[in-house]
Amino acid sequence: MKTDTPPPTNGQNVQTPLISLKDIVKRYGDLTAVDHVSLELDPQERVVIIGPSGSGKSTLLRAVNFLEEIDGGAIYFEGREVGYVEKKGRRVLDKPKRISQLRSEIGMVFQHFYLFPHMTVMENVMEGPRTVQKKPLQECRNVALDMLQKVGLTDKKDIYPATLSGGQKQRVAIARALAMRPKLMLFDEPTSALDPELVGEVFDAIKTLADEGMTMIVVTHQMGFAREMADRVIFMEDGRFVAQGTPTEFFENHLDSDRIRSFLERSL
Ligand code: ADP
Ligand code: MG
Repeated sequence: MKTDTPPPTNGQNVQTPLISLKDIVKRYGDLTAVDHVSLELDPQERVVIIGPSGSGKSTLLRAVNFLEEIDGGAIYFEGREVGYVEKKGRRVLDKPKRISQLRSEIGMVFQHFYLFPHMTVMENVMEGPRTVQKKPLQECRNVALDMLQKVGLTDKKDIYPATLSGGQKQRVAIARALAMRPKLMLFDEPTSALDPELVGEVFDAIKTLADEGMTMIVVTHQMGFAREMADRVIFMEDGRFVAQGTPTEFFENHLDSDRIRSFLERSL
């Protein structure tokens, strides 16, 4: 028998997904917040997750970033299972050091920007490379300047966060996540806390990243954003992915689902 034959692919994409979630379950007591969710994301793919409040979107993103221990399922990064080890017959989070390493491959931006108030914009962006990745100071400075330029905030580098607008703070938060050179970015309602006139500048920063080929999962209520930049839109409800498709399938055909149609009508 020939041993150099590649495994059958059924004509499907043979690229290794950047991240795969297999059957993720997360419970809080009796509540199943994430209920057997599976997702594969190829490099450079952009997935937008929408769905009603309380459907498990944030919990899922936190699980992907190991901020939340899962009760079932597995997470694979670049084809390798990550994050959990067997201990006395129980699956537990891997060593803090490994988790912290993994987290630096996955950047996360939340609804509320947690910047350090006592540090300048530049120092905020340098913090991760400096303290987590232990990179030399000059390299941290260079990477911070690059990332601030990417989000259009070079001129704010020496000021303290308190004097920035919400949109500027969120762009600093994006630059700070990017400074770790992540392979995957997670955005959890990055514009929900912003005044409407500041939404655009944050979207533009995210769109720039998308155009550069960053792989990302974005949770948002902004349908225009989903329409414009998603390769795939997923509708989550009651902890499950109940429908997914391209933006066209989603917004024009509503995937023939009354549930999605009524959700979209309420959100637009
Ligand atoms: P979404 O982001 O879609 O609004 P969440 O992931 O925040 O939804 O929440 C999913 C469900 O899990 C909700 O019912 C919420 O109340 C519950 N939940 C989230 N975090 C916790 C927690 N730390 N403890 C208990 N229940 C939680
Ligand atoms: Mg949420």
